[in-house]
Amino acid sequence: KVRNGHEPEFIQAVQEVAETVLPYIDEHEIYRGKSILSRMVEPERLISFRVAWVDDKGKIHVNRGYRVQMNSAIGPYKGGLRFHPSVNASILKFLAFEQVFKNSLTTLPMGGGKGGSDFDPKGKSDDEVMRFCHAFMTELCRHIGPNTDVPAGDIGVGAREIGFLFGMYKKINNEFTGVLTGKGLSWGGSKIRPEATGYGTVYFAQDMLKTKGEGIKGKTVVISGSGNVAQYAAEKIVHLGGKVVTLSDSAGYIYDKEGMDEEKLAYVMDLKNNKRGRIAEYVEKYPSAEYHEGKTPWAVPCDIALPCATQNELSGGDAKTLIENGCICVAEGANMPCDTEAVRAFHHAKILFAPGKASNAGGVATSGLEMSQNSLRISWTREEVDDRLKLIMGDIHESCIKYGMEDNGYCNYVKGANIAGFVKVADAMLAQGVI
Ligand code: NDP
Repeated sequence: KVRNGHEPEFIQAVQEVAETVLPYIDEHEIYRGKSILSRMVEPERLISFRVAWVDDKGKIHVNRGYRVQMNSAIGPYKGGLRFHPSVNASILKFLAFEQVFKNSLTTLPMGGGKGGSDFDPKGKSDDEVMRFCHAFMTELCRHIGPNTDVPAGDIGVGAREIGFLFGMYKKINNEFTGVLTGKGLSWGGSKIRPEATGYGTVYFAQDMLKTKGEGIKGKTVVISGSGNVAQYAAEKIVHLGGKVVTLSDSAGYIYDKEGMDEEKLAYVMDLKNNKRGRIAEYVEKYPSAEYHEGKTPWAVPCDIALPCATQNELSGGDAKTLIENGCICVAEGANMPCDTEAVRAFHHAKILFAPGKASNAGGVATSGLEMSQNSLRISWTREEVDDRLKLIMGDIHESCIKYGMEDNGYCNYVKGANIAGFVKVADAMLAQGVI
């Protein structure tokens, strides 16, 4: 706290892990007195750099770029790049720290990292985004590589941005390698990667519900966000016979009490991914739906809630409302969307709650599969990748049960995910000595 007191999101993420992992360390001699957690909370490297670029009118802008290389004990650093005005060292350190545990949980050999910039792609032309991405990569390229650090997308970084970033890396290094994941299908991308985080979150919710003899079919589902994760979580829920009634963006949420179908989802994907529009436009197309400006969707009654937008978007008060309205399952599609009070409330009410590092790990897991395909220079089919994704999510669920099951029969998935993620990284760090 002394060293990172000015970094609230990072402290929040570390505290959550410490609460469950420190007692475990105390109980296990091999981890005691080795300062493992103290070493894990200090990034191996934090790079910050200037990104200067020129807009369409010839005006020069300066943004700040970052890469947090948190832990490489079990593999090359791996984690997304976020372009959003809110980006700062605290947010990226929290995301990188979470990523270490998440990547460990996937069982794939990936260390943890995260990066990005306070650049806002909203309202920028494609040319401006390209110039920014190229400028960003002229510095980042010195610090990454297929065996060193393999970034991916996150908020504000989708297929378009990954393309521009990859193009500049390739030009500077004169080599075509799997240095980024989330690439286009015709140039090294993996099938199912765009879908993987959202699909994986729903597979995880399905596994949790199964422990209570329940399923997705017929359930009402509230989803926040309308970006990559939210879109594909919604798609999978619809495929499995659930009813998605909300989506949102930073300006408000839409409530469609009739539920969304494939056609409505296709409209949302076109609106957000191609037209780069706002979710409010949904009610112009489907007037029976409602738009609630400036609000989040948590007061809408539901069986399942999937927060898929951003950190701390669901408060303790929102959690209470969800519980009172009969919600039985919450799976985080975003990273740390539920604040500390909300997580406490879910645990207190003993409802199913999955932390993002477990439930949204499908994205990075499939990125790991993309790296494997790149190294082998092969491309697996959609079914092959989806089957592997399901298996990995199932394994993560099992790990959470193994370390998180309490005597009263309630599974604390936060504890389970933290300890399972910790053990593998800690063992590797112990084996490699004090470095
Ligand atoms: P996108 O940029 O595709 O979408 C983000 C969505 O969240 C948009 O609807 C956006 O609305 C909304 N949003 C962003 N900031 C805020 C805010 N401050 N308040 C309310 N809404 C906000 O990002 P992704 O879908 O990729 O990422 C969403 C979350 O999932 C993030 O937490 C990310 O870290 C996490 N995640 C993503 C993975 C991936 O594979 N993409 C993997 C694992 C986790 P608006 O358009 O108005 O900004």
